[in-house]
Amino acid sequence: MFFRKSIFGKLVTAFTAILIFGFSMTSIMMYYFLSDYVINEKVVTMEQTGKQLVDYLESSLGEINNPFFIINFTLFLKAYRLNNQIFIWLIGPEGRVLLTENINNEFGMPEEILQKLKKERGEYYLPDTRQYEKVLSGDEVIVKEEGYFYGLFDLTKMPWLTIQVPVRSGGKTVAAIYLNTPIPEVDKAKTAVFRFFMVSGFVSICISVVLIYIYSRRLTSPIKEITKAAKIISSGEFTKRLNISSQDEIGELSNAFNQMAKSLQNLEEMRRAFIANISHELRTPMTSIKGFIEGILDGTIPQERAKDYLVIVKDETSRLSRLVNDLLDLARMESGDIKLNLVDFDINELIRLCVIKLENMFVEKNLSVEASFEDEKTFVRADRDAIERVIINLLHNAAKFTPEGGKIEIATRRIRNQVYVSVKDNGIGINPDELEFIWDRFYKSDKSRSKDKAGTGLGLAIIKNIINEHNQKIWVESEPGKGSEFTFTLEKGLSN
Ligand code: ADP
Repeated sequence: MFFRKSIFGKLVTAFTAILIFGFSMTSIMMYYFLSDYVINEKVVTMEQTGKQLVDYLESSLGEINNPFFIINFTLFLKAYRLNNQIFIWLIGPEGRVLLTENINNEFGMPEEILQKLKKERGEYYLPDTRQYEKVLSGDEVIVKEEGYFYGLFDLTKMPWLTIQVPVRSGGKTVAAIYLNTPIPEVDKAKTAVFRFFMVSGFVSICISVVLIYIYSRRLTSPIKEITKAAKIISSGEFTKRLNISSQDEIGELSNAFNQMAKSLQNLEEMRRAFIANISHELRTPMTSIKGFIEGILDGTIPQERAKDYLVIVKDETSRLSRLVNDLLDLARMESGDIKLNLVDFDINELIRLCVIKLENMFVEKNLSVEASFEDEKTFVRADRDAIERVIINLLHNAAKFTPEGGKIEIATRRIRNQVYVSVKDNGIGINPDELEFIWDRFYKSDKSRSKDKAGTGLGLAIIKNIINEHNQKIWVESEPGKGSEFTFTLEKGLSN
């Protein structure tokens, strides 16, 4: 049951069935081919022998009554029969048996045949006219018969092959040479070849079945290994990898499997890091809120200073709510819940609005903001609110990471079907080894951790998500100490 259910079992069964079927077909074909071939070969040999004997007889007809000739000839016939199992007779008119291999002993014929001959006046005759009339008819024909030869071979209980070659003298047929051989004797050659074929076939089937078994095992054992690995991974052990090096489809499958396992492992690591980060980000403000409120309640913090601490508590709570909101937004974006509301609008105007919104911050830090727009109006097709969030975030970061008296430049320009928007500052810049991480959730450089306590580390992750949703790109060029430039692209829009 198990054998038939497994791929291994199916393979072995299918291969073996094909092999046996193929072998049987070949055997059957070979059997019939051999039968024809062996008989035909025998017929050809017998015809040739017959013709040679006839030639010899025709050239020595004068000596046919010479006893020495007869003795020699019959001795030859006997030797020939012993070697080839072919009985040779000389038959004369009216089917009279003129000569066989032995003249002394009732023609040296097998008793079963002798009994069937007609005996008249001490001479032996073939009993049925059909047994000789054709070859003695006068035409120069070689007659071939297969079977019981009109009853002559009945008592031998086996079919015979008989070849009759006419002996001619003076343009007339005077006698005929008969060459007779039992067909089972002919079949002996066939049986020998066939037996050899069967034995070698059987041996090769046995070897093939063993090879098929080994091959199928080799084919199916990696599949078993993959199943085992899949079970291990589904139990949560994501470090499991397959070590299958074959270059075929199974190899491809195991490579794909390993990639899947790697992605799962990454996802799992990200999930763990994410939870750890969230816990950390939430715990820090909550600890300080709890500490300050307890201090105020138990009097550790004097009444007159309570207000200062409550201001800090307020800042921390708003940071907490910002953090939670950002997280919710990110989660919604990543689950694809947020649908973009694409409209055509002037990005230059939106930038101006954003600058106005953050004006207080720029004034406070004495930052100069410069806008350089290639055209008076630059239309883009995007979700206006989402892009506003991107610009505000980038400007906010630029202001945060640029020392007092610094400079921020915002530029828009059109390249083919796209609009490039860049926000450049001459602030602290970003270390090259940090560049690839700034887009990750909760990533904050060490510098910014100490300087900017209000940041959540989610800003750039949200920005990247928004730009990705638009199928556009965002990148940064930065040099520590010199400043950073964030650039993103948008689809060109229609002016209205
Ligand atoms: P947050 O600003 O809340 O810390 P962001 O995701 O916006 O989080 O930024 C991630 C990190 O990228 C920042 O902590 C900072 O280290 C770096 N960064 C972002 N913008 C700038 C900038 N204009 N100049 C220098 N560093 C920046």
